[in-house]
Order: sequence, then C-alpha cells, then structure tokens
Amino acid sequence: EKKLQELKEYISSYPDFPKPGILFRDMFSLLRNPNAFKDLRDVMVEISKRNIPDAQAVVGLESRGFLFGSVLAIELGLPFVPIRKPGKLPGELNKVTYQLEYGTDTFEIQKDAVTPGLKVLLVDDLLATGGSLKAGCQLIEESGGVVAGCLVIMELVDLRGRDKISQPVFSLLEF
Ligand code: 5GP
Repeated sequence: EKKLQELKEYISSYPDFPKPGILFRDMFSLLRNPNAFKDLRDVMVEISKRNIPDAQAVVGLESRGFLFGSVLAIELGLPFVPIRKPGKLPGELNKVTYQLEYGTDTFEIQKDAVTPGLKVLLVDDLLATGGSLKAGCQLIEESGGVVAGCLVIMELVDLRGRDKISQPVFSLLEF
C-alpha cells in the first residue's frame, strides 16, 4: 500500500492532452526513475502471482501494454504475445473490431500464439472506458484462449471501465 502510494507520485498529469477536457496520466515519468520502475515491476509480479497464478501466457496490448507485459512475462517465465493494430503482424491472424467514441478500431493477434484453452494474463497500461481491454478479452476468447485475469498499471475509476469486463481486473494505481 505504502509502495503504491509512493509510485503514484511519479505519475505526471497533463491537462487537455491529447484533446481539450482530457487529463492525461503519463507513466513515462515513472519509468525515468530506475528504482520506481523496479518497484513497479515487483508489485506487478506480486499481484499477478497472488491473483492469477495459473496464467500460461502474458498478452500485451499495443503499445504501452508491450512495455509492462514483457517485463512481467520475463519475471513470470511465461511467453509474451502482442495484440497489435491492423497491418503490423505477419502470418495468419484473428481480428476483432471494436467501437471507439468516433468510429471503430481493430486489434489483431497471431493465430498460432493462442493454443486452445491457453490461460492468458492480459496487460495494458491504463483502464479508462474499458473499450480496449474488453476488445482484447474478446479477441483472446475468439482465438480459443481463456482470460484468467487482466492487469493494468493505472485505472481511471470514475469511468467504471471494469464494469464492461466480465473477467477479473487488477489495477495498481487508482486515479
Ligand atoms: P479505454 O479503451 O479503456 O477507454 O482506454 C484505454 C486505452 O487508452 C489504453 O490503451 C491507454 O493506453 C489509452 N489511454 C487513455 N487515457 C489515457 C491516459 O490518461 N494515459 C495513458 N497513458 N493512456 C491513456
């Protein structure tokens, strides 16, 4: 608890970015501090081991989910699998299209990365409305995997994004 409170102080907030009215939470200010990054890693590992002990792979959402997902995959000794925006991944793909505030977006995953019944720990940097994490869960399940749990570094609690997600969601820092 104390460590989380300390980590929260490394997160910078930018009003009106990328659009007027949005208060953007930036964790790159935390990553610039090696000790804070190490502490963040330790907390991610502890929460994952305690709550999602049966995970068989870590899946990260493009692009900041790659950063935290890959650290976690190495620490847990699990495969890392990316979910990417369209046109970036080679080979046979599964896709899901999801609703944005204006228009739609698509996520892709490599078919051979998700074996039937694979228990996945899904990672992203931040949970806002929950649209991205929900689409990620859908893509994993449509690919034959099981989302054992989701982990985000930051959660904007007032937006109630976790209500959209039926799988367990764990967040480190609440705003
Ligand atoms: P959602 O789909 O939950 O509405 O939005 C989550 C996605 O948008 C995440 O992938 C996250 O990277 C990005 N995002 C939304 N707001 C912020 C923010 O304040 N800070 C950061 N770092 N990312 C944000």
